This record gives sequence, structure tokens and C-alpha cells, in this order.
Amino acid sequence: MSVLKETKFIMNKYHIIANKNLGQNFLVDDEIVLGIVNVANITKNDLVIEIGPGLGTLTKELLERAGKVTCIELDKRMIQILQDRFSMYSNFEIINNDVLKVNLKEIIKKANLPNVKIVANLPYYITTPIIMKLLEERLDIQTITVMIQKEVADRLVTEPGTGDTGAITYAINYYSEPKRVLEVPNTAFIPEPKVNSSVIQLKILKETKVKAEDEEKLFELIKIAFMQKRKTLVNALANSNRYGAKEQIEQALTKLKIDPKIRPEKLTLEQFSELSKIL
Ligand code: SAM
Repeated sequence: MSVLKETKFIMNKYHIIANKNLGQNFLVDDEIVLGIVNVANITKNDLVIEIGPGLGTLTKELLERAGKVTCIELDKRMIQILQDRFSMYSNFEIINNDVLKVNLKEIIKKANLPNVKIVANLPYYITTPIIMKLLEERLDIQTITVMIQKEVADRLVTEPGTGDTGAITYAINYYSEPKRVLEVPNTAFIPEPKVNSSVIQLKILKETKVKAEDEEKLFELIKIAFMQKRKTLVNALANSNRYGAKEQIEQALTKLKIDPKIRPEKLTLEQFSELSKIL
């Protein structure tokens, strides 16, 4: 049965109407489902953590390939469906909770498998906090393969310092090597979202690209710089009252041979790191 038919059948059987507030757009394109699972390159040595399994479309394929699949789903209605569909798999586990509240380190420790991979068609309303959690908690994971809104993907896979970036671009490039792996039209879902999507894969780095003296200080600086993205970096930092007067910040930039009129998105990760050391 095609994924589209199966999805319609399950939605009918359980009287499911997608909950927009939970970002529910169910994937119904067989090629994209296989595309995601193939690019995640899953083996029996892997624990896969799936965030937001929904009706279980990706889960079904993941269970066939992985050593263990731990699903984290907030919607209670989905829990019943997933249990009915997959309780015969001994490698299936489901947690009914908000992924932002779950202790992922514990899940990883308990599974005790050589590799850990995250796979998800993420709920778009909390893409950034989920990705930040996965990166900042320094989890012992190999890859994160996720479907996100195309516009967000564009920002995430951009090289820092080259254009339309956000604070998250720097975090992504600090902790991982990002790449875009699939483009997905909005017609691949029911209900159809207004936007197109992309699948990106983050390969987690064992050693970060830049050696920050103090990670917390570095990312605080980046977040403050991007809070007022349209301003120059000097003005954004001076307005925060955290880094001294405008003149002091200008002096710090001049010392690093950076144009004092620069905008935050033009700074490289290395330059932010140097700046955070001297401010
Ligand atoms: N994986 C399914 C698919 O591809 O068809 C569903 C993807 S849908 C875009 C996002 C899923 O994330 C929904 O099932 C939704 O209920 C779930 N979700 C939303 N917020 C969540 C949260 N805070 N924690 C865990 N799951 C969440």
C-alpha cells in the first residue's frame, strides 16, 4: 500500500484531524520517506531517536533497519496508533512527552548502542529550539537528519559570514557540518503546508571547528548581535549595555581588523570567537 493510502486509512480509522498547533503535516510521498531513511544510513548498530513520529510513516521504515527506535511524541492520539502499529517490534519504544522536556542523555545511555542518529520530520513551530537542544546538550550522536521549512534550511546551511544567516547558523556550524540533502514540495504532505520543505543533515563534529574560550559567552554574544540584525554590530552590542560603550566596542573591532560598520551577518564564526575573547 502506498504511504498516501495508508495515511488516509489510518486517519479515517482513528478519526484523526491534523492539529495545526502541533505542526502536524503528515508525509505521504513514498520516495521522500525512503530518501530520508536512506540518507540517514541506518544499521542495526544504531539507536534512532525519532522526534514527532505522528502516524508512524518514517517509524515503520526505521524499525526495519535500526537496532532500536525511540520515538518522542507529544500528541496522545498518536501514541495509541503507534502502539497498535508497532508493539510487535521488540526494538520499538515510545515516549509521550514534549521533546524539549525529555532527558535525551538518559535515553542514549539506556540504549547502549554504538551509534545514535536523530531522524525527524520536525514540527515547524519549534524547529529552532529542538535543533539547539540537540546541539547544545553535547549529546553523543553521529547525525541529525531532519525535514524543516525550506526557508529555515536556507539559513542553516549558509556559511557564516556570507549572507542571510541567523544566530542558529553559527551554532550549527560550530557543532556540525551541515548539508542539504533533499528538496520537498508542499504537495508531499497532508494537510499541505503553505511552504516548501528541505531535508538537511548535520554531521556532528567530534571537535568543534573553532576553539571557543568560553562557549556560553560566545553564543550569548552571537544571540545579542542578531537580536537587532538590521543594526550595525557595534550598535546592536552597545544597545544591550553588556559590552561597554560604543567606542570600546569599536576599538575591539579595530584591534581585530574588522570594519567597525560591519553588520552581524558578515562576521565569521572565528571573528565572533575572537571578539568574545576581548570584549
Ligand atoms: N513524522 C510524521 C510524518 O512525517 O508524517 C509527523 C510529522 S509532523 C510534521 C510533526 C509531529 O511532531 C507531529 O506528530 C506532532 O504531534 C509532533 N510534535 C509536535 N510538537 C511536539 C513536541 N513538542 N514534542 C514531541 N513531538 C511533537
